[in-house]
Amino acid sequence: MQIKEMMYEGKGKKLFFTEDANLVVSQFKDDLTAFNAEKRGSEQGKGILNCKISSEIFKLLEQNGIKTHYVETLSDDKMLCKKVNIIPIEVVVRNVATGSLSKRLGIKEGSVLPFTLVEFYYKDDALGDPLINDEHALILGCAKSIEVLDKLRENGRAVNEVLRKFFDEKNLILVDFKLEFGIDSQGEILLADEITPDSCRFWDKDTKEKLDKDRFRQDLGNVKMAYEEILKRILN
Ligand code: UDP
Repeated sequence: MQIKEMMYEGKGKKLFFTEDANLVVSQFKDDLTAFNAEKRGSEQGKGILNCKISSEIFKLLEQNGIKTHYVETLSDDKMLCKKVNIIPIEVVVRNVATGSLSKRLGIKEGSVLPFTLVEFYYKDDALGDPLINDEHALILGCAKSIEVLDKLRENGRAVNEVLRKFFDEKNLILVDFKLEFGIDSQGEILLADEITPDSCRFWDKDTKEKLDKDRFRQDLGNVKMAYEEILKRILN
């Protein structure tokens, strides 16, 4: 697959056009950002780890009937994906309270939620990705109908069902995660972007040790070791 010019550079990935108008190449970067990119860093080798982790997770989800943009892994840090128009909504799925949920609503850090919570955030860096409800999403034109929003919620819960069980067997608690969806040339909604320790929170079941980007956000050290541990458990 011939890689052409860069289409877009995000915080964690670069996207390239290819010779096929319906396919793009996603290259995972070593850069780390947090707090709406106010905090920046880099961890050598993180891009390769995230490419491997995301590839394994997309394959697992596909095997479980979830439609994703994943086509194949091309090299250590590059993935071939179906080209989609990203829906500008970050779909956050939560099993355990922490992060902005605990801060905003005062729910005790670490409390298991009585049911899986799905939230929508408007993907807009200038506004700091604000929490929105369905009506906001429709007014902003993020989705054309309530059915699309229902589908995002349904897909978010379906991804959670697969991943929560999978990681539980790896002695990890899937605390929360962020998903992005896109619409392909056929008009189909596909899970897109990435699923990595940059976009998920994983806690060891026994020690509750954080094995994700919170190590960077909170200056806990051993960021790369945590990502390596996640990959190791996925592959075991
Ligand atoms: N998240 C993400 N990108 C964002 C915001 C959140 O990947 O721009 C992920 C984050 O890693 C966590 C989940 O979404 O797994 C919920 O994040 P939260 O709303 O608690 O935000 P934070 O505490 O990171 O500000």
